[in-house]
Amino acid sequence: MVITSSRHSRFEATSPIFLQPIQSNNANMYFHELVHLIQRRLLGPGRFLFSYANGLACFGYQQSPLQVMAYDAETAFASSTASFNVEKSVAQKLNS
Ligand SMILES: [Zn+2]
Repeated sequence: MVITSSRHSRFEATSPIFLQPIQSNNANMYFHELVHLIQRRLLGPGRFLFSYANGLACFGYQQSPLQVMAYDAETAFASSTASFNVEKSVAQKLNS
């Protein structure tokens, strides 16, 4: 999968995304998973896995910081046709 995530860069996802067949046509779900791929690329695999697991252990699935970030971006994607730079948004949130 190759996704253009900003004007000047291409994001090549080499990690598989596993979705249930009922979700295979759900663009919002792909966008949610794209956010996790960007998180993984920006943090690096080790920090991403640690942060993801730590967030689940400390806050549970729904309140895990990386999940909240992905759901917030998914909601923004689903609720507007305005374009936004999700890679930049994720980078800003990871650094705040
Ligand atoms: Zn998620």
